[in-house]
Parts: sequence; structure tokens; C-alpha cells
Amino acid sequence: QAVKLKYCFTCKIFRPPRASHCSLCDNCVERFDHHCPWVGNCVGKRNYRFFYLFILSLSLLTLFIFAFVITHVILRSNRKGFLDALKESPVVVCFFSVWSIVGLSGFHTYLISSNQTTNEDIKGSWSTKRGKDNYNPYSYGSIITNCCAALCGPLPPRWVQDKRMTSCIASIYLSPHLFSPSSVSESSLCVLVRS
Ligand SMILES: [Zn+2]
Ligand SMILES: [Zn+2]
Repeated sequence: QAVKLKYCFTCKIFRPPRASHCSLCDNCVERFDHHCPWVGNCVGKRNYRFFYLFILSLSLLTLFIFAFVITHVILRSNRKGFLDALKESPVVVCFFSVWSIVGLSGFHTYLISSNQTTNEDIKGSWSTKRGKDNYNPYSYGSIITNCCAALCGPLPPRWVQDKRMTSCIASIYLSPHLFSPSSVSESSLCVLVRS
């Protein structure tokens, strides 16, 4: 399946497949999922698994707290009555937290199992409504392989050069297709010549 490459006028590069420009982070993000206001960062290719493990552990925590809040309400209602016990406990807050966070984890589990991003799911990029030929070319075809690839696969190298690293060895990881000639710095040129 052919995937169109779009040109980003802000970053002045042809975006790699699945990349999107984030206006808040002001750069293109590979395998862009979404910009998360909770963590104050974009969720993309290199941090998606950590984001998923974060919301998964958060769901377990909210379930744990909710279970004990319910136990607390039951024990208190024996002495004070159900309504008074309900007023004194944060059961309503816990109830909504459980639904929203567990729901979010469930949604991301579905995305991982089908190798989709939130951005692609919202846009309906691989929706069957668009026709039979519109299959997801990034899916490995099996839920287990998709999960393994997303959670246990090798972590791709970073393309952005760390400003603190001035040695040439650090710039080996720069990908030639990601920058335009005007953005080649002296240190990256140094590597290009050497290699
Ligand atoms: Zn961009
Ligand atoms: Zn962002």
C-alpha cells in the first residue's frame, strides 16, 4: 500500500511515514500518537511503551484504591448508615477515575494489538469504511506480534542531535532523510565526511 509523504513547511523536511507535526512541541514527531497534556510531551515512536506502561500501572493503582474505598464504605455503613459513609469517602472521585483511566488503558491496548496510533484511529486512516484496499500496512497480522513489536521490540535511535553532545560520535545517529541541507550542522557534516 502506497503511503504519501507530506512536506512540513515548519521543519522543512519530508515527514517520514506516520510522522506528524506537533504545534506545541514545535517539531515533527515520528509515529506520532498524540500530545499528552498530562506528561507535557508528545507520545511517539520512542516513548510510547513507557506511556502505555505508565497508564497501565495507573489503572492498577486506581483499581486498588477503588477496591479499598468500597471496602471502607461497606465497613463504615455498618456503623453510620450508607449515605453518611458515602459522604465521607472519595468514592465518586474514585469511580470516575477508574472509568477514565481504565478506559484509556483499554483503548491503548486495542491500538497496540492492531498496531495503530491514536492519530490514525481518530482520522480513520485504516478504517474499513474507506474501502477494502485501505488495510493497515504496519500491522503484523497477529495481535501477539503487534503487542511484542510495540512493547518489546528494539528501541529506535533518536534522530535529534543532543545539543550537550558535541562529539562527532553522537551524530552518527542522525538520519539523512530527516533533515534538509540547511539544517546540517558542523558536527553532523564532520560525520558525513568521515563515514
Ligand atoms: Zn514539522
Ligand atoms: Zn507535542
